[in-house]
Amino acid sequence: MSDLTYKIIVGLEIHVQLNTRTKMFCGCALSFGEEANSRVCPVCLGLPGALPVMNGQAVEHSILAAMALNCEIAEFTKWDRKSYYYPDLPKNYQISQYDLPLGGPGYIEIPLEDGKTKRIRIRRAHLEEDAGKNLHTAGHHSQVDLNRAGTPLLEIVTEPDLNSPEQVRALAVELQRIVRYLGVSEADMQKGHMRFEPNVNLIIERGGQQFKTPIAEVKNLNSFRALERSVAYEVRRQLDDFLETGRTMQMGNKSTRGWDDVNEATVLQREKEEAHDYRYFPDPDLVPVTPSSQWLAQIRSRLCELPVQRQTRYVSEYGLSDYDAGVLTGDRSTADFFEQAVKLGAAPKRVCNLLTQVGLKLANEKGRDLPGLGLTSDGVAELARMVDTGTISASAGNTILAAMVETGKKPDVLAQELNLIQKSDAGELERILDQVLAENAAAVAEITTGGKKAQKSRGFLMGQVMQKTQGQANPKIVSELLSKKLGS
Ligand code: ZN
Ligand code: MN
Repeated sequence: MSDLTYKIIVGLEIHVQLNTRTKMFCGCALSFGEEANSRVCPVCLGLPGALPVMNGQAVEHSILAAMALNCEIAEFTKWDRKSYYYPDLPKNYQISQYDLPLGGPGYIEIPLEDGKTKRIRIRRAHLEEDAGKNLHTAGHHSQVDLNRAGTPLLEIVTEPDLNSPEQVRALAVELQRIVRYLGVSEADMQKGHMRFEPNVNLIIERGGQQFKTPIAEVKNLNSFRALERSVAYEVRRQLDDFLETGRTMQMGNKSTRGWDDVNEATVLQREKEEAHDYRYFPDPDLVPVTPSSQWLAQIRSRLCELPVQRQTRYVSEYGLSDYDAGVLTGDRSTADFFEQAVKLGAAPKRVCNLLTQVGLKLANEKGRDLPGLGLTSDGVAELARMVDTGTISASAGNTILAAMVETGKKPDVLAQELNLIQKSDAGELERILDQVLAENAAAVAEITTGGKKAQKSRGFLMGQVMQKTQGQANPKIVSELLSKKLGS
């Protein structure tokens, strides 16, 4: 065992639900949580003779997302029928894209823990429709809800370039940020807007020989946590299995597994890879898509700076930590808000602190974004300036920001009302300091003679001044005065 090393190999398939008003091939409204089978029509019910009509918005969203993933966009792409039989699929085929996907190859940059990024290749991105949902909650029979049938999905397939559970998670999180930035998906995990299927195996080196474990595909994961943990579980399981049985990858021994959230384990579903014959063939009811160069140019103009680029720029341009930059670029509205405040002349680090320590916490609690809290970038910029010029202390800044959310008042008004303006009048502070020095001769002596407790005595005198001013003295000015008077 001691000479054994291994490398984790993961490729990921992701289905992203697109943010459109209606379904992919009919006019039914997309919905969540509606009464079962209340958002259906002859097309998505698969009734004979019903004809699909393509949703142009879904195609546009997909192309935009594919462009953001640096994919080549096909000049000619078509729709194929993928035939299989399942109760949630009333047509007995899914409309998908087989040999001519609308996008690919491309790549995505994912952030690593050390602040660097890694490039993961994208094999393809194609558009398809979702199936309905089988429900197994009604005792001795199952039920089918077709509200979801026909929902537009963008399927993205990566090359097996991911080498740890953390990288797999990072890709999923980054993809969520990207589709949200672009506005092509709400990417709400609670509503199943993103579903993941990692393909995992190991390359093991032992005694100068190389072995590959059989690939396991974990189906239908709908949280980042389940995704990361299932990959970590597969690594342990495959290593154990190899040590016990010596089994390696062969034709047809790929398995499909499910994730048991309660026991935190993957569970075998199908052992042998079935030679699926989906009888793919072009859908005769739909015309191919041949995007014009004008249309593509118009879509490309909607591309924006991607979150990972923005994150890197916040570190280099504004001197923020990678962590802070990651939080601020977590969603576009926060990043835009932050940058707007900085453009108004506020110090980036100060705005960052106000937003991460107070603003985003409140936004999270109330389930809103920063503008949704009634905050404006003008107001936050003004507040940041008040802290930086010493008008108020940093902690008063946090108090005032919370009060701005509660009352909608301006920061200078709140600073007055809450009595948080620091005393910065050097003349007045000097009088108070003189009084403190007179009352504490021992501490003064300690400092002027450079005694062991000089530092401590200095802190004590500062504290006395703060006390006499009910904590409102500007500590920077008091400190300067103290240095001037005692030469410390
Ligand atoms: Zn419909
Ligand atoms: Mn699919």
